[in-house]
Amino acid sequence: MITSTDNSDRPYKVFTERNIDSIEQFRQLPEAMQFDIKVVASVMPFRVNEYVINELIDWNNIPADPIFRLMFPQKEMLKAADFNFMAELHRAAESRDTIKKAAKEIQLGMNPHPAGQQVMNSPMLEGEPVEGMQHKYRETALYFPSQGQTCHSYCTFCFRWAQFIGDSELKMASTDAATMHAYLKAHTEITDLLFTGGDPLVMKTKILKAYLEPLLEPEFDHIRHIRIGSKTLTFWPYRFTQDDDAEELMALFKKIADSGKHLAFMAHFDHYAELKTDVCKEAIKRIRATGANIRAQAPLTRHINDDASVWVKNWKTQLSLGIIPYYFFVARDTGAKHYFEIPLARAYSIYQEAITQMSGLGRTVRGPSMSAGPGKVEITGVAEVNGEKVFVLRFLQGRNPDWCYKPFFAQYDEAATWLDDLKPAFGEEKFFYEDEYKTMCQARGL
Ligand SMILES: *Cc1c(COP(=O)(O)O)cnc(C)c1O
Ligand code: SF4
Repeated sequence: MITSTDNSDRPYKVFTERNIDSIEQFRQLPEAMQFDIKVVASVMPFRVNEYVINELIDWNNIPADPIFRLMFPQKEMLKAADFNFMAELHRAAESRDTIKKAAKEIQLGMNPHPAGQQVMNSPMLEGEPVEGMQHKYRETALYFPSQGQTCHSYCTFCFRWAQFIGDSELKMASTDAATMHAYLKAHTEITDLLFTGGDPLVMKTKILKAYLEPLLEPEFDHIRHIRIGSKTLTFWPYRFTQDDDAEELMALFKKIADSGKHLAFMAHFDHYAELKTDVCKEAIKRIRATGANIRAQAPLTRHINDDASVWVKNWKTQLSLGIIPYYFFVARDTGAKHYFEIPLARAYSIYQEAITQMSGLGRTVRGPSMSAGPGKVEITGVAEVNGEKVFVLRFLQGRNPDWCYKPFFAQYDEAATWLDDLKPAFGEEKFFYEDEYKTMCQARGL
């Protein structure tokens, strides 16, 4: 359990499935809704803190409020049969054990590790897999510190949920900083370290320091950019303002930025409502004052932000606070995908409608992008070529860097929601990368 954010002025109160009834606002909801939420929360990870409850959710707008939907699992997130089965167990007041066992069965059916993440991306060092590391794209290594495998609150759509449900077999975690350092030292092609989670900023500053400070030594000169992926600006902005080690955290950021490396804070804002509080704005100011840049990315999710006007307001708010819009993702093929997913055609039209309302400063955001097995694939547009309606696609990142930024074409399909649903256009049998990707998978025993 995390305790990193305790601070004397402001006790950190967090609610999970076990004490959901102590949320005052929750108890005011209609009883049937309370029951449904509890049933789903026994399958999907649920965690929300009092800042989100009191400052971000508009309790006069339930169930439509986007932050409510981001935090509180909804009945429709489970398949009807699964929901009914779990609901029966709850009605019969079955033991926690029985409920847990049934929940686990359902979880396993929800594609906890999409896009072959675990096997395909685990790098090796001296014949041993490097725990907690993913190295999929040449320049950038992802690292998941074991102490950062949780978040201040849990998003209902999150594809990282497999690591929150206490399944140690599936857990992608690291044991210590030394292996991370050894791997980075041995791979001078890596320019970017993406330090992620969960949310690494649930960690105390002194633990973060043990990972990041050594990277300022000369043997890590090739690491030019340190990115920290975090949703803490949304869930616990006090982390940067008044937690007991907030000052130390800001000093660490400043030290990294002063060293001449680019410190990129990769924030995640699904909705402009996350940026509305004074403490969030203050936190953004403080982070920027260290010399770090803040970039923002988020997935497009039905029920939360599937409207161009929400994105325009989200990106405009970010820009005015000095944040650089970065990625616009297609929701991943995992978890409650059927609840959140949006057809690619619609994702593209929302993106196009939104981005054309931005000035050039806001057009840094790329997408809609799918993080699929072979790479990050962008829907560049919809076009008609010789009478055939097609999606124009390209890789923004690829397992083979040569795949990137070359347009390729798929048959237009209004219902397709993921790369797997698409078929090559112009009567071709396969996409240009498919044979090579298959060979890569086979080399990994997949
Ligand atoms: C998105 C992603 C990255 C970072 O890609 P950028 O385009 O450089 O932001 C790195 N590794 C993995 C596995 C990713 O999914
Ligand atoms: S903060 Fe990020 S990792 Fe954590 S639950 Fe939300 S999307 Fe997932």
